Amino acid sequence: MKVIQQLQRIGRRVSRRADFWQRGLADLVFPPICLACDQALPDTKLSRERIYVCRACLNSMEVYADPVCGLCGVPVPSIEQPSTAMEHASSGKQPAASDAEGCPRCRRSKLRFDATIALGHYTGPLREFVLRMKKGHGDALSQSLGRYLWHVRGESLAALAVDVVAPIPLHWRRRFAHGTNSATLLAEVLSGKLKRPFAEGLLKRTRFTHPQFDLPPTRRWENVRNVFSVRAGHHLRRAHVLLVDDVLTTGATCSEAARALLAAGAARVSVAVLARAYGEMRSLSTS
Ligand SMILES: [Zn+2]
Ligand SMILES: [Zn+2]
Repeated sequence: MKVIQQLQRIGRRVSRRADFWQRGLADLVFPPICLACDQALPDTKLSRERIYVCRACLNSMEVYADPVCGLCGVPVPSIEQPSTAMEHASSGKQPAASDAEGCPRCRRSKLRFDATIALGHYTGPLREFVLRMKKGHGDALSQSLGRYLWHVRGESLAALAVDVVAPIPLHWRRRFAHGTNSATLLAEVLSGKLKRPFAEGLLKRTRFTHPQFDLPPTRRWENVRNVFSVRAGHHLRRAHVLLVDDVLTTGATCSEAARALLAAGAARVSVAVLARAYGEMRSLSTS
């Protein structure tokens, strides 16, 4: 047992050192520049956290201010319980997931997940960054923005106390076409920060679907119905799963993924996304 612990300690030391040298070398060869605007990056707390996006670009994104709805992740401008809203505003924290009974936007929805944590709204520069992340050369931007999501929402994410982190998978044909899956990179960053296992292959798509953004919000629900399944060999007994995606609009994709996870024995599913767009959060057909 002692030998294993010693080996683990040595392993951690070696990987920390490798990380240090890798970073040092990368900075020497390529002076750090903003991945969004190519301006030189000053040495700040953010760049030391390996968030390679400058302050001006980060500030240009529409990051949500509290209070937000714990269930669907959007700001709640006139929350029905003013005392609760004031508490959250003064504490500077997002409400805990357990506060979440939903807001007018999501209360009557049939979302199968219990909480959403989003960095900000899918518009302007944040939308542009998300679109860039989906391309093959957008991997470093995905990782930097994943670290920024943690920088801003780390406390709320840690408070969820999840057991495992899993990305929304792409169908292999789409992954092949894009050359990357930004949700996987975001999930990997969050799994490292939360120190929880990264279950990249937990979910799989059972069929190829139209891209959701091509469809009117009401069609999105039927487009993804039963599209996910949990890969054989994964045991989810009573686990709380953090599902990670780049954008959440109607919630249809994450809700269907949550359906598969719950059917495979997960106790709870929460969602983390970089951006939140507005869309019909209910299926018009039976659900
Ligand atoms: Zn910049
Ligand atoms: Zn809501």
